[in-house]
Amino acid sequence: MSMEKLITKQHVIDFLMEAQRIIAENKDYLTQLDSAIGDADHGINIDRGFSKIIAQLDGLKEKSIGEILKSCAMILISTVGGASGPLYGTAFLSAANETAGKEVLSVEDLLNVLKSALNGIKARGKATLGEKTMVDAIEPALQAFEKELLDGNRNLTRILEIVVKAAENGAKNTIPLRATKGRASYLGNRSIGHQDPGATSSYLLFKAMYNVAVREG
Ligand code: ADP
Ligand code: MG
Repeated sequence: MSMEKLITKQHVIDFLMEAQRIIAENKDYLTQLDSAIGDADHGINIDRGFSKIIAQLDGLKEKSIGEILKSCAMILISTVGGASGPLYGTAFLSAANETAGKEVLSVEDLLNVLKSALNGIKARGKATLGEKTMVDAIEPALQAFEKELLDGNRNLTRILEIVVKAAENGAKNTIPLRATKGRASYLGNRSIGHQDPGATSSYLLFKAMYNVAVREG
């Protein structure tokens, strides 16, 4: 019998609550990052989206994982605004499609769900690695995830610990980059020397996943 942990609907619900908590806690920090290279609204935008998800969560609890993620996508698209709303919305929609019909997720399933989310963001925003966007946190995080699975690591908490580190480093590594996508690209070389807000919120979302895994195994 496999002792591997499976990810349930309850984990997904707890992730959404933890994501809202971490985003709210970092709302001012994210907005401050966006004030350096954007229009000082990223924390406000994404806090509005996750707060709305939490406000509607009771009505979502009877739905499947795929339906919950799809509802989150719709809420994010309609409430977050800016560039990040449609991008995170697309990420959740792609994740929803990947989980359709599944009641539980294995660690491989989770990697595939996250890969779909990243592919959704890249298809929508046309950003590739190194353009100083959320892709710079998510892509290295998923590369680290994949490497752990290939190395035989099946421990979700341990995998996510490494994934979070990679996402955090990815966000930090946006500091020397020049933005070539989104609002920050208007600054050209003046975007250099600042951490990307979207990469930072993406790192925080991985942190939320990790916190749930630590708490619930
Ligand atoms: P806006 O820039 O419209 O005010 P936000 O402030 O909410 O939107 O989000 C800004 C973040 O969105 C950036 O820090 C960046 O990470 C992300 N972003 C912007 N454009 C793109 C893109 N084309 N692809 C991926 N991410 C992007
Ligand atoms: Mg902004």
